[in-house]
Amino acid sequence: MATIYYESDCDPSVLTGKRIAVIGYGSQGHAHALNNQDSGNSVVVGARPDSRAWSAATADGVAVETVADATAQGDIVMVLVPDHVQAGVYRDQIAPNLRAGSMLMFAHGFSIRFGAIEPSPEVDVAMIAPKGPGHLVRRQYLDGIGVPGLVALHQDATGNALALALAYGHGLGCARGGLIETTFTEETETDLFGEQAVLCGGTTQLVKMGFETLVEAGYQPEIAYFECLHELKLIVDLMWEGGLAGMRYSISDTAEYGDLTRGPRVIDEHVRENMRKLLADIQDGTFAREMMAEEAAGRPNFQRLREQNADHQIEQVGAKLRAMMPWIGEKAAVKPGA
Ligand code: NAD
Ligand code: MG
Repeated sequence: MATIYYESDCDPSVLTGKRIAVIGYGSQGHAHALNNQDSGNSVVVGARPDSRAWSAATADGVAVETVADATAQGDIVMVLVPDHVQAGVYRDQIAPNLRAGSMLMFAHGFSIRFGAIEPSPEVDVAMIAPKGPGHLVRRQYLDGIGVPGLVALHQDATGNALALALAYGHGLGCARGGLIETTFTEETETDLFGEQAVLCGGTTQLVKMGFETLVEAGYQPEIAYFECLHELKLIVDLMWEGGLAGMRYSISDTAEYGDLTRGPRVIDEHVRENMRKLLADIQDGTFAREMMAEEAAGRPNFQRLREQNADHQIEQVGAKLRAMMPWIGEKAAVKPGA
């Protein structure tokens, strides 16, 4: 059984008198800074002068400094710039200002697991990784609930790293849902696998292929959109609340029989083989090397794929249909471009 820490296992007072530097103010950064500040912790954001991050943090009422100055102030330095820029920001601005005995933190183990950052042995290195998008980490905190998270230690120079990491997770609101103990390796590999095979890659491809199959067979794109994308949320909500059985309890017997007999024909043993190959590419560093080379080349492939996907018919049809359901946009956790 996994070790899971809840609020009663955390001692927020170990952060008394300590300052948290949150480096970056994007999806995760804004949630970490605001939640910790609202929880009574002392927070400073590190950002580039004249950036949108700087003005957004200022408008939200959080202290902002350059990355170098925020790091110098931080007893805890949480690195929330994108994974592919972390090594450069660490080398040039964080490492020279990181005090011995302070704690370097991450929300994803990529840079440590694949060796892009090798911290000095004089600092603690820990992870609090919320298992959800940053905007929900903020929204659920405000709602008095919390996205669960992972906690891991890479270095415990002070002997206090776990207590500090748990207090940080408590301030972030993740201890409400539970902080599962893991390692940087397990977090990094399972996180990459989940987003590639199931959550993002697997799901978007499943939705697109379902939509295309119906449209190609002559059905109306609007019907195909509702069937393959819109309704997915309703089904996933039931799974989230009650597991696969909870969802199956709610659907009709016709739907359940189709699910049980046809599901394994769609997602078959070839898919399992493909999933194993994705996992192997993650474990041996092939994916990380490819992603870093893509970045170094200026993202040619990434950019092309983004554009291709943005032009897909499902996006055009969806935009029109969602405009007729304004409540969806009003409740959105994130407004693209905002
Ligand atoms: P993001 O792209 O939303 O935000 C990055 C922030 O870093 C922005 O404020 C940007 O202005 C700033 N930034 C970029 N380059 C910079 C530089 N050179 N110097 C200073 N600031 C710079 O990133 P994110 O999605 O919040 O990801 C941050 C970390 O959190 C990553 O390690 C990611 O894997 C992890 N994570 C993200 C999510 C998520 O919900 N997006 C979930 C779990 C973990
Ligand atoms: Mg993830």
